[in-house]
Amino acid sequence: MRKMSAFVVVAAAVAMWMPAGAQQPPAAPAAQRPAAGADDSLRPAPNRRADEGKGPFKTLVIRGAMLIDGTGGPPRGPVDIVVQDNKITAVRSAGTPGLPLRASRPPQADHEVDATGMYVMPGFVDLHVHAGGAPKNADAEYAYKLWLAHGVTTVRGVPLAGNAFTVSEKARSAKNEIVAPRIFNYQRAGVGWNGGTVDDAAKATEWVKWAKANGVDGLKLGSWQPDIMKALLTTAGSMGMGSTAHLDQGGVAQMNAIDAARLGLGTVTHFYGHFESLLKDFVVQPYPVDQNSSDEYMRFGQVARLWDKIHEPGGPEWKAYLQEHLKLGTTFDPTLTIYSAGRDVMKFRNAEWHDKYTLPSLMDFYAPSRTNHGAYWYDWTTEDEVAWRNFYQVWFRLMNDYKKMGGRVTTGSDSGFIYQTYGFGYINELEMLQEAGFHPLEVIQSATMNGALTLAEPGGKPIEFGIVRPGLLADMVIVDQNPLQNFKVLYGTGAVRLNEKTGKAERVGGIKYTIKDGIVYDAKQLLADVAAMVEKQKKERTAKTTTPAVAVRLP
Ligand SMILES: [Zn+2]
Repeated sequence: MRKMSAFVVVAAAVAMWMPAGAQQPPAAPAAQRPAAGADDSLRPAPNRRADEGKGPFKTLVIRGAMLIDGTGGPPRGPVDIVVQDNKITAVRSAGTPGLPLRASRPPQADHEVDATGMYVMPGFVDLHVHAGGAPKNADAEYAYKLWLAHGVTTVRGVPLAGNAFTVSEKARSAKNEIVAPRIFNYQRAGVGWNGGTVDDAAKATEWVKWAKANGVDGLKLGSWQPDIMKALLTTAGSMGMGSTAHLDQGGVAQMNAIDAARLGLGTVTHFYGHFESLLKDFVVQPYPVDQNSSDEYMRFGQVARLWDKIHEPGGPEWKAYLQEHLKLGTTFDPTLTIYSAGRDVMKFRNAEWHDKYTLPSLMDFYAPSRTNHGAYWYDWTTEDEVAWRNFYQVWFRLMNDYKKMGGRVTTGSDSGFIYQTYGFGYINELEMLQEAGFHPLEVIQSATMNGALTLAEPGGKPIEFGIVRPGLLADMVIVDQNPLQNFKVLYGTGAVRLNEKTGKAERVGGIKYTIKDGIVYDAKQLLADVAAMVEKQKKERTAKTTTPAVAVRLP
């Protein structure tokens, strides 16, 4: 008998990505960490050991680097970047290209990074994350280290996990007690409190006020009915809280992306709501008559069939749609990566990083399953992939056209589902924005400054990170290759390149250092830690399968 778990029913009803196994009993807390919340199947990260990350320092100098500052400005170098404690205090020319570095340079530092021939960028901002949980990854540390190893120094949890857990991890990360990116806590309306379900506007207002007082930075919304959506967004806006919405198909007929933006929505995440705003011959998606959106194969298969049901890309309705969003100041956070297995499932099922860096339990979660969210490969066909490829072309154009007219597009990954492993999925997002038509410098701008602006604006404050500039926090990524030439060098597994001298193929790149709050992390060490977690689980599984079976009792 196939039993649908409560999780699946909830997920289908509200059509959201949520931490998998949210109904699982809490795991036993490890020593030296706060207990997991009652609603979490996720273990908090262990305390940062003395040998994890160096710094922060009274003075840290990154010498001789090529700088991509995040604003969209071209690379320049060599420069010396001076960091004091957790702040960038100076960016100075270190000489002239083609000549030896200048002699008179910033003062002796407590710590120096020789970045000669390397590229420095601001730390990346991932605006759409979940940290997982059992059964896929029981440890938050697994996701945190993969994010940092891929240059992600700030995440917007939507949600990261339950509210109490996230508030605690956010504070620990802010104090650098754990090895983790800085965390912004966005939560779904109605979670975390004892006030019951949000089922009318008054309750919505009440919950937002509760959330503001309880460590929530912003709202993760679905396609709520109009009066509730209005109450949520109006209250959040008046309290300086941000908002992002996955306008799920269940309610999108009443609340598409332009409806939500008119009510004050900050960010549209994924594609939900865009295509429905542009439908040509219908006011709802013309589903097959046997559609059942609780069936994830039907749900995700049919999404892609929207690509030719809308007004002509580039036509007057298309332009008017984007122009209205521009006027309203909507941010688009497409998370192109999370659906990309839909256009080529074999590629992502066999991605080269899985063996070393994807936990077997996470691989299990991705495999075709009626109960695991995003595991809808019951019978995934060529036709399904063709539909998704067509869909992507239109979606790419929508994002690129918005960018071209001055709209803000950001980077989010939503990894931990659909064959996308934390960190790796984020770099895939950078590659896909380039595929959408973004210049690599525009991709970096989306990944850094644009993300920072999106997080800072609701509070009416200037950015604190996202650009390599004096006065901002020292969050940076250092790689010994040119990322603009090939984003693949940012994957933990690097990029394969033929060495013309030896005639042999070799792997180049992989981020070298990720700096957060002036603390220098060796990205390769972070990856080695993750590889050890994967290895440990593999060994445990082998041990289990080789345990002698209980003797069969003869009748
Ligand atoms: Zn999500």
